Amino acid sequence: MPVLNRASELQDEVAGWRRYLHENPELLYDVFKTSAFVAEKLNSFGCDVVETGIGRTGVVAIIMGNRGDGPVIGFRADMDALPIEETSGVEWGSKTPGKMHACGHDGHTSMLLGAAKYLAETRNFKGSIAVIFQPAEEGGGGALAMLKDGFVEKFGIEQVYGMHNFPGIPVGEFATRSGSIMAAADSFEIEIIGRGGHAAQPHVTIDPVLMSSHVVIALQSIASRETDPLRSVVVTVATTHGGEACNVIPNTVKLTGTVRTLLPETRDFAERRLSEIAKGITATFGGRAEISYDRGYPVTINHESETELALGIMRKISGDGAVDDAVAPMMGAEDFAYMLEKRPGAFVFIGNGKTANLHHSDYDFNDEAIPYGISYWVTLAETALAA
Ligand SMILES: [Zn+2]
Ligand SMILES: [Zn+2]
Repeated sequence: MPVLNRASELQDEVAGWRRYLHENPELLYDVFKTSAFVAEKLNSFGCDVVETGIGRTGVVAIIMGNRGDGPVIGFRADMDALPIEETSGVEWGSKTPGKMHACGHDGHTSMLLGAAKYLAETRNFKGSIAVIFQPAEEGGGGALAMLKDGFVEKFGIEQVYGMHNFPGIPVGEFATRSGSIMAAADSFEIEIIGRGGHAAQPHVTIDPVLMSSHVVIALQSIASRETDPLRSVVVTVATTHGGEACNVIPNTVKLTGTVRTLLPETRDFAERRLSEIAKGITATFGGRAEISYDRGYPVTINHESETELALGIMRKISGDGAVDDAVAPMMGAEDFAYMLEKRPGAFVFIGNGKTANLHHSDYDFNDEAIPYGISYWVTLAETALAA
């Protein structure tokens, strides 16, 4: 089965929405125009419920099937753009300097709107579909804000599915994997505290520059010597700040960086060892370390049976050869992880073709992917909720 006919028919209309959203990028929770646009469309399709203001600017709509009672399944798209100056040169380029849709959330939102229009027309399923539009995926935790507002419980959502475009995967192809698919992204700050003094009298100081150098090197042993090489972890010290003059040993040095992991156990381990190593090394030199460790998005973990279902849908649409069922996990992070912690489901990649990479100023979502995305959502609804 190739793409659904109705999905192809909707392509031009959906591409029009997509280009409108691309021209009007908004950041984080401030997606006021975008969420108003989404809610207006969902109302015009005749969705049974359209609720706005969830997680500040999120939107959820319910579409009831006409094949009887059944579960409620959630499909999620993200709506926010990035603080990047667009250089793509496309006709529908951003009208707002310094902001652009460089991650394709304009495409995700439009494809899910297209699927909502289709599903509201046909309603060929039992139970209900909840279409979920979240703000603040790009570092703001919009999914968590929506979950805290209780939409999953309120609408009785039992499973959740998400989709992200992926440059480099050909248009019309899909990829996903069971288990960890995106990394946890944590950040840390280590303050190395010594005792400053004259640079010519180091013996009466406790040198935080020297201590911090040892800490930076020792932290690399978390990945290289303490973690199973098949259980990925990245520990990056990205900034180091300390000292003002070449003849003064400062009192303190501050390090900041990020930790990326693909398993909750590795994440716990890396957090613990980061602290032990920084404290242990500084204690050795007579100083001390104060650590603040900030947990960001968790690991995005796909559930096995929901991933199998998603893979079956992709193979139906694109054929076996166009579906990668064991794509390598990405070390980037994804807010949808919070929804997958709450309910079983799967996060999948849809091919964006040979475009610039995500978060690049030349990037543009590929409108040719639209019928594939809509077909995926609609077929998933009609299969998971077959009467
Ligand atoms: Zn992004
Ligand atoms: Zn994204």
